[in-house]
Amino acid sequence: MANTNDQRSEKECVLVQTPLLGGILQGLEEHYSVIQLVAGVDAADLKVSLSSIRALVSWRKVPVDLLESLGNLGIIANYGVGVDNIDLDYCRNRGIRVTNTPDVVTDDVADLAILLMLAVRRKLQKAHEFVRDRSWENMRFPLTRKASGLRLGILGLGRIGMAIAKRAEGFDYIISYHGRTKKPGISYTFYSKISELAANSDILVIACALTDDTKHLVDKDVLDALGPEGILINIGRGPVVDEPALVKALLEKRLGGAGLDVFENEPHVPRELLNMDNVILTPHVGTATWETRRTMDKLVQDNIDAFFAGKPLLTPVV
Ligand code: NAP
Repeated sequence: MANTNDQRSEKECVLVQTPLLGGILQGLEEHYSVIQLVAGVDAADLKVSLSSIRALVSWRKVPVDLLESLGNLGIIANYGVGVDNIDLDYCRNRGIRVTNTPDVVTDDVADLAILLMLAVRRKLQKAHEFVRDRSWENMRFPLTRKASGLRLGILGLGRIGMAIAKRAEGFDYIISYHGRTKKPGISYTFYSKISELAANSDILVIACALTDDTKHLVDKDVLDALGPEGILINIGRGPVVDEPALVKALLEKRLGGAGLDVFENEPHVPRELLNMDNVILTPHVGTATWETRRTMDKLVQDNIDAFFAGKPLLTPVV
């Protein structure tokens, strides 16, 4: 997609980290001069004056040297809820506004958490392969583990954590949670220590934000507290888990299983995880449905429109 210089001079300039799936590029191009920043390409190589760029649509790491080169940047509209990919302090100091896409993603991510929980317990992937490779014609599929009525621990009872809890109530789960503080008016059991939550859970779901405080919060001790029958589900962010410790716990059967949508070094996944019967892997697809991506497209564009119109941002972070 190339824009002519004439178009650029008339329209505000928006830089978009691509590829982005969905229809956001077409939507933005109706109103703005859109420049795509493909992964691995240096901003200095873009055929546009960097000082003309006022808005950035981000979904992966936003390096500070990129921000340094965009001297007139006014807003980063992040295509996601988690803003761990952006140096928020830097943006605050430079007066760059930051928005994200909360709420509209919540149902999809909670659905995926439940899907992973059920799939790990009932060995869905193995059962599917068993039918596909015709093993069923010669033998019976081994027994699996009951998926309802268990103790569910939620790390981070925010929007997504709460939506997981609501769904889990329908499966008769006994729900408890850990966060920085006990939530007023919530009847689920609160544990002030993550290891205590893990010790009292059959399934531990990570649904918290990635911050300096939550990085590697789920470490060897937490995994050991979850134990050989326990299952870890991560739909939050990869670095919340000490991934080598997770791999080791699974290899040594000190952990019962895992369902993982996010990883420490995406898209690279530790080789050891690829062929484990008790592990289900998805490629960071928590919000990856057409319906949700359309609402995310709209929210990102509405925030950019509001910024250029001098109106209040819809979902400000900074
Ligand atoms: P949210 O409503 O802001 O919830 C974030 C939760 O993180 C809060 O419950 C907070 O609990 C908890 N938290 C923050 N710091 C903590 C700490 N030091 N210790 C323990 N808990 C802490 O956000 P959300 O909309 O539910 O989204 C949660 C996360 O899901 C996002 O940040 C993102 O990383 C991830 N996500 C993943 C996907 C995917 O595709 N897999 C999609 C969307 C979002 P307290 O305030 O009680 O501490």
